[in-house]
Formats: sequence, structure tokens, C-alpha cells
Amino acid sequence: MGEFELIRNYFAAAPCAQGGEGVALGIGDDCALLAIPPGEQLAVSTDTLVAGVHFPDPCDPFLLGQRSLAVAVSDLAAMGAQPLAFTLALTLPAVTTDWLQAYARGLNQMAQACGVALVGGDTTRGPLSLTMTVFGRLPSGQALTRGGARPGDVLCVGGELGNAAGALPLVLGQRHAEPAVAEPLLAHYWSPRPQIELGLALRGRASAAMDISDGLLADCGHIAQASGVALQVEQERLPLSKALVAFFGRRDAEPAALSGGDDYVLLFTVPPVRLSQLQAEGLPIHVIGRVTEGQGVMLVDRSGRDITPQTRGYQHFRETP
Ligand code: ADP
Ligand code: MG
Repeated sequence: MGEFELIRNYFAAAPCAQGGEGVALGIGDDCALLAIPPGEQLAVSTDTLVAGVHFPDPCDPFLLGQRSLAVAVSDLAAMGAQPLAFTLALTLPAVTTDWLQAYARGLNQMAQACGVALVGGDTTRGPLSLTMTVFGRLPSGQALTRGGARPGDVLCVGGELGNAAGALPLVLGQRHAEPAVAEPLLAHYWSPRPQIELGLALRGRASAAMDISDGLLADCGHIAQASGVALQVEQERLPLSKALVAFFGRRDAEPAALSGGDDYVLLFTVPPVRLSQLQAEGLPIHVIGRVTEGQGVMLVDRSGRDITPQTRGYQHFRETP
């Protein structure tokens, strides 16, 4: 199968590549054309996943198709952008029909769930790697950046923390768990759900936002630095993943949830006056702390004592006692 046949069969023919609102020209020419209405901006982000670095090799290509697009679309959600389109640069060691078919199926499923159209890409031979560039639309000036948090704002997350940290030893084949524990963790890892609706709802209301990809404390550090403020995280308010707690035990679950990356839930700050309105809309919002004057990130216990861990790097390979 040649390059063009491959593109035609697996990508150009996919339901997600048949265009959609805002796609003036899709796959097949030298460029795709996106139509952006006046008064809107284009949000653009690129993510590369390399075999053996960002995902185990070999792995299930259907699941990889889902995950590779979801992690990229999560960046659009974090900006408050409406997903529009994406391109796929695919480097493959060899053409395997089964692999391509399953990968394209997973990709298509996630693309349709997120409402993004595949509009182009590149196909080359080499060690397996996937680069996604995603495009989203938003009203000019309304993007949710990391730089707007102000003292007095509340600090929130959009969902449970630590599912990805719990999944990692399973994905790497280092530990095993019974299906009731393993399945929800693996589902979060392989098929993260970008919080698109939440990002849209936070537009014009959150003061700062990002998606958690490096771990809660590290990502809080990014908002603190960009906004020139300090963030205080309250230990007892952390929404720890129930599956993670069941797998690691309570004591090890907390450091894992604080430092493990890849959860892809939104992390954001909101002025207190807007919080109850957002909560009343039934959005998944967990208050985990607050914004203060100063700099850096502090974890505090119930009595306000500083219990910030010395090391933010989570040890994935630690054995339970
Ligand atoms: P060019 O040589 O002009 O860069 P290519 O021959 O690389 O074009 O690609 C032909 C068309 O197929 C282009 O529209 C390109 O965007 C699209 N394409 C190539 N690879 C992929 C892929 N993996 N997924 C989706 N579209 C692709
Ligand atoms: Mg090309």
C-alpha cells in the first residue's frame, strides 16, 4: 500500500474527515482552509507522542487513537476554545493494515466525541510517533490564559485527581489490579475526556485556567508564576480518585494525585462572586484552595499548617509496604 492509498483509505475516508462547520477545504490539497468568523480568534496547539516515551510500545492502536487526540483537544478546552479541526502527522515504522484500521477507528471515535474534523496531515516512515495540531475558535479576547488569577479568587479543579497516576503502573505492566480497580483507571488513561463544556462555561468567568498534564502541584506553579500570585491548596479538599485510593491505599494515593500528571482535568481560578453561579449550572467544579498575595504553591492541612512535599516528582515504581 502506497502513501496516498494509505491516506485515502484510513484517513480521508474517515467520517471525521468529511468536513464540518468552519472547514472550507479538508484533506487533499496543499493546505486545508478554515473559515473563522469576524470577531473570533483561532486557538492552536501541537502535541507529539513518541512510542516508548509517551506511550508503551506496543500498545492497543484503537486506544492510542483515542488518547493521542484527546490529550491535544484538552489544550483547547483549557483555553475555553470550541474545537474546530486537527491535523495528524504520522510516522510509522511499517504499514500494517490492522494497526492503521484500529488506530483510525479510535481516532475517529474521539474526533466525533469532541466535534473536531481531520483536515490534513503528513505520513512518513520512521519510528512510531504521532503529532497532532488542533485548532479551536473563540470570541476575540475571551481566551482563558494562565495569567489572570488574583488574590481572593478560589482555586478549583474540574474532576477527580490521580486517575492517570494510578493507571501508569498498570499501563507499564509493573503492577496488576483486579478489574473493578484497573478498569476505571485504564479508561481514564486511554480515553481521557477533554473538558470542552467546562472550558466554554468558564469563558468570561474564570480568571485563569489550564489543563493538568504535569501534575496538580506543578501545574498550580505555572498559574502562580504566570499570574504573579501564590496558590494555597487545601489537603482535605482534594477530590482523590476513588479507584486510585482503592489501588494505592489512602497514604500513597495523595502524593500520587498531587504529583502524577496526565489527568487532563481543568485547573482554574474564579472570583468568589462567580462561583455559586457556575456551581448552580451543574458543572463539575471542586474547590481545592485559594489565591493569595505572594508567589509559589503551598499545600496546607486542616489547621493551615504548611505540608508542601519536598519533592514534587512522584515515584511511579514504589512498592506498597
Ligand atoms: P504535500 O506533499 O503537498 O505536503 P501530502 O502528499 O503530504 O501533501 O498529503 C496529501 C494530502 O493528504 C494533504 O491534504 C495532507 O494534508 C493529507 N494527509 C497526509 N497525511 C495525512 C494523515 N496522516 N492524515 C490526514 N491527512 C493526511
Ligand atoms: Mg506533506
